[in-house]
Amino acid sequence: MSYYRKSRPQRGGQGNRARNNSGQRRPKKGRGAYIHPSKFVNQAKTVVTAEEYQATHNFADFPFAEAIQANIRSRGYKIPSAIQDQAIPHILAGEDIIGLANTGTGKTAAFLLPIVNRLYANRKTLSAIVLAPTRELAQQIDDQFRIFSRGMKLYSTLLVGGAPINRQIADLRRRPHIVIATPGRTMDLIKRKVLHLDGIEVLVLDEADRMLDMGFVGDIRTITSQTPENRQTLFFSATITPQVEQLTKEFLRNPRTISVRTADTSESVDQNVVEVDSKEEKMEKLLEMLGRDEFEKVLLFGETKYGVQRLSDKLNKQGINSVAIHGNKSQSQRKSALKSFKDNQSRVMVATDVAARGLDIPNVSHVINFDQPATYEDYVHRIGRTGRAGATGKALTFVGKR
Ligand code: AMP
Repeated sequence: MSYYRKSRPQRGGQGNRARNNSGQRRPKKGRGAYIHPSKFVNQAKTVVTAEEYQATHNFADFPFAEAIQANIRSRGYKIPSAIQDQAIPHILAGEDIIGLANTGTGKTAAFLLPIVNRLYANRKTLSAIVLAPTRELAQQIDDQFRIFSRGMKLYSTLLVGGAPINRQIADLRRRPHIVIATPGRTMDLIKRKVLHLDGIEVLVLDEADRMLDMGFVGDIRTITSQTPENRQTLFFSATITPQVEQLTKEFLRNPRTISVRTADTSESVDQNVVEVDSKEEKMEKLLEMLGRDEFEKVLLFGETKYGVQRLSDKLNKQGINSVAIHGNKSQSQRKSALKSFKDNQSRVMVATDVAARGLDIPNVSHVINFDQPATYEDYVHRIGRTGRAGATGKALTFVGKR
């Protein structure tokens, strides 16, 4: 039997098939199916990126308060991205939006800037909520909120799992203007009767397709049902599946759809396979690659939390500075790992699919699939971490010799 076969364990035999790395339920369908290695090979093509989009507005054209304009300037944004250019006028007009956009398009600012503008004008507490699939994404949204609302006396609270709930309860008592949250923790706080959503004017569902993938559909329905029906709903998703479409029908009123998906992101990524015969050879080849200068900033994917941690430990023992990010890490550990990778203190970040989802990490030179992804969709998500914003990225996937 070839190593290739051995490296595809029977997922059902591990007793944890129905749960992903965050412990959430995950659909079985399509997972663990054989992906032909030819799907991991592609020569990068130049694709039109959002960067080449001709914006029809300048930020100064948007009727934002001057304090916001100043924060946009100091953040260094000069020209609105495609999603910002097209969505902001409609969001400011109070319309519901379906934004078909993935990470890297500037979608976060597209929804946050109009929200900051609204909160600044009416100063109503707890009048906006943003739901995001992962803690890291929620944290990134909160970071951006703080940047865009600097000096405006607007307050946000981050409600995510893995952080002490009592502190979040205390934060909520101080009546923030906006909460940025993951569905699980939001449900918990609603059940404890410390989070009341009856004053919500704007609801944002970010990366809705990911949230559905992670089994949050019930939570999302419950949370949404707690908000007033006449709210404004801003719905973002990278893909439209029948389930996503169903939710848009339930939650949105006369929505305007804005699609800024460029060609398949995988088109701009050079992809190839690395054939190996054994576990030992796989490790050897990995170390050989990481020894080369061109492997400047590497995102390495593993299948399990334990495998990811073990791999990161091994690399560190070999003198390759690496951090691990997976569901067994506390929120603060994940945050510091991410920071270390972003700031180039660690050249390698080893991650599980769920932990890496939606993260905005600039300048990843290589994505390496140490373990193969369970689905082709996961593969596309993984390699989408490189080759962003017009740059050509590289993705390598280990496969067994056949
Ligand atoms: P997002 O898709 O919201 O995760 O944003 C991706 C990255 O693009 C983030 O680092 C943003 O700070 C950055 N970004 C968003 N909008 C702009 C803009 N108009 N100009 C320059 N950079 C931007």
